Amino acid sequence: MKYAAIQNYINGQFVPASSTKTLPVISPIDGSQLSVVPLSTAKDLDAAVRAATAAFQIWSRKPIKERVQVFFRYKFLLEKNMDELARLVQEENGKTYSEAVAEVEKSIELTEFGCSLPQRVTCAVLEVSRGVECRTEHVPLGGVASIVPFNFPSMVPNWTLPNAIALGNCMIMKPSEKVPLSTAKLALLLKEAGLPDGVFNIVNGDSEIVNAICDHPGIEAVSFVGSTKVAKIVYQRATAQFKRALALGGAKNHLMVLPDAKPDMTAQNVAASMSGCAGQRCMAASAMLAVGEVDHIIKKICEEARKIVPGENLGAVISKESKDRIEAYITEAEQQGAKILVDGRNSIVEGKENGTYVGPTVIDFVTPDMSVAKEEIFGPVISIMRTNTVDEALAIENANTYGNAASVFTQNGGMARYIIDRASAGMIGVNVGVPVPREPFSFGGWNESKFGVGDITGKSSIEFWTKLKKSTTKWNPEAGVNWMS
Ligand code: NAD
Repeated sequence: MKYAAIQNYINGQFVPASSTKTLPVISPIDGSQLSVVPLSTAKDLDAAVRAATAAFQIWSRKPIKERVQVFFRYKFLLEKNMDELARLVQEENGKTYSEAVAEVEKSIELTEFGCSLPQRVTCAVLEVSRGVECRTEHVPLGGVASIVPFNFPSMVPNWTLPNAIALGNCMIMKPSEKVPLSTAKLALLLKEAGLPDGVFNIVNGDSEIVNAICDHPGIEAVSFVGSTKVAKIVYQRATAQFKRALALGGAKNHLMVLPDAKPDMTAQNVAASMSGCAGQRCMAASAMLAVGEVDHIIKKICEEARKIVPGENLGAVISKESKDRIEAYITEAEQQGAKILVDGRNSIVEGKENGTYVGPTVIDFVTPDMSVAKEEIFGPVISIMRTNTVDEALAIENANTYGNAASVFTQNGGMARYIIDRASAGMIGVNVGVPVPREPFSFGGWNESKFGVGDITGKSSIEFWTKLKKSTTKWNPEAGVNWMS
């Protein structure tokens, strides 16, 4: 084992879990064991909630300008530790080093936004009648939880932790049991940045901890990022306990390619979107709607895909189970009559035979009823469906149950606007393969890609992590007595 056994992080200390049950942490790059992660119990969660609740009494009373100083230092520490953070992400998640660096850079951008919060949460004051003032303030909630997936071990934790904590909350994070190493490192950096003990805590484990988070009366709000199946469970369970909840789920993102699209730019963007992070991005292109005569572009997409080589510029998928699942989807599509133009099955990287790699895969002549057209594959696979018109393409996009992202490739601005208006997704790209809104714009999908109101990052997160206090004050006797006295 390359690293010591993972522990929970409670009240500023790494502590063992109360259970001795563990799971191995395996590197998808070569199948080697990196560590073990404890399967904590409700007792461990309770200790973390007690630490967060006690810390909240002090942390929430500090002015926000003082609280964000920690995040200015944390941003500097993310930069200083870039190489170590990126290597941890690479080892435990399997993505390439340059993708891991990009992920940490995104964590830095998220932290910059957190540092800007004092400029964004200024309260509103208005003299509503002579001598009477109404005022609103954003007040933190208390102990809050953030449950995160495996695919972005650094970025997704940083979607929630800088904003929630800068706004005065104390957090319990539940990392994915597949990638717990990065979050532990973030805790160390937060401590070094001067975050008081108890403000940020980590409880490792599986569904038992997620359920305990939803049920615990000391947790006021739950944010979740992961698959739609679990997002639904978490949203229902947390709101049944009258908690605030925001649960982001899976995706099936459609790219529409029109005949007037720039061939080279389109091919490069489509190939990068479907294969980046081994296709394990909730913003990845997964289905392509080829409108009209675009064979010349499909040919170029295949050429670009062939330049993407597992173990070189393509990382591994998270597990053997995942590799088998992705390859089974490809085989099923082939058996149902689709044509495999580029086949990434049975990829083996020399010297890393136990790594779990799937090569880029382009499947043509997919029909909307096939599983590869409807379900989230979460691998470097794109399924091409042919349509005659934009409206036919939109009908397929609109019928899918998810709604994270959609993109169109065209040189026609009017047509792009037509598609922006009609696509049923929260984030739309024009000639952009991965239309992630960057800070200060907020991130969040529609339909079965998100449950709850608002988005998880950007300005929208202020509403999620705070409640409004409205005060009405009268100091001037001239105000007299009126109907609201
Ligand atoms: P997952 O749903 O399996 O796991 C997410 C978290 O839930 C983990 O911490 C896990 O321990 C926990 N969990 C798993 N099963 C559970 C259960 N039955 N009950 C309670 N908790 C459970 O997701 P994953 O495989 O880690 O991540 C990949 C998924 O996340 C994909 O579907 C991807 O699209 C999605 N994702 C979505 C976004 C978004 O912004 N919408 C971002 C990143 C990832």
